Amino acid sequence: MRQAGAVVANVLSQLQEVAEPGVTTAQLDDLALKMTADAGAEALFKGVRSSHARRPFPGAICASVNDQVVHGIPSSQTVLREGDILSVDFGVRLNGYCGDAATTVAIGSISPDKQKLLDVTKGALDIAIAMAKPGVRWSQVARKMQRHGESAGFSVVRDFVGHGIGTKMHEDPKVPNFVSRELLADDIVLTAGMVLAIEPMINAGSQGVRTLGNGWTVVTKDGKCSAHFEHTIAIVAGGCEVLTVKQV
Ligand code: MN
Repeated sequence: MRQAGAVVANVLSQLQEVAEPGVTTAQLDDLALKMTADAGAEALFKGVRSSHARRPFPGAICASVNDQVVHGIPSSQTVLREGDILSVDFGVRLNGYCGDAATTVAIGSISPDKQKLLDVTKGALDIAIAMAKPGVRWSQVARKMQRHGESAGFSVVRDFVGHGIGTKMHEDPKVPNFVSRELLADDIVLTAGMVLAIEPMINAGSQGVRTLGNGWTVVTKDGKCSAHFEHTIAIVAGGCEVLTVKQV
């Protein structure tokens, strides 16, 4: 899983370098596909089916711009512009095991409001990484993540959550970024050896989202921006290890 995670991290790092005004999200997708093939890995998102969409997901990456929350479809029509924020979500399977991560990138220089949204959303992920260790109940972590987002005046998306990950991209349990009655009734006690994809999505405005007619792209209902950061982490003795990092 470290090896799969390293491929994901390398690709995201390269896309972050390349993403600038004038570049299309299709160009980023092409680069991700090529790097995945060169690494001997399989892009996990390409060809995924959904009951909401007629067509399988066409991209290797999800490329979600500004008010797009997740599952944006890479397109040669989507040209990045100065001041945009771009969330890139990407996963691979390598030697039978999966890695999944996301980051939100500033295109050129962005407004202070957008920068704050990026910082707060990454901060929520950092809180989870700092707190995750054997014996901790996930609701304790989720509460801190939620408060971090809400105390900044933002809202945490409820419609999408993190997940277990292993030989499949999505495994049990569901790992929310907020506290719900459902989580409190069936809390997750972290134990060494668990591997989880933690992925806070935070909206600048209200939490509501809707899906566009293509059946994939999720946008904020109020049209305000959204950010998304994700790492695959392994719970180990005394803490956690982030697996979606570059190997030196
Ligand atoms: Mn994920």
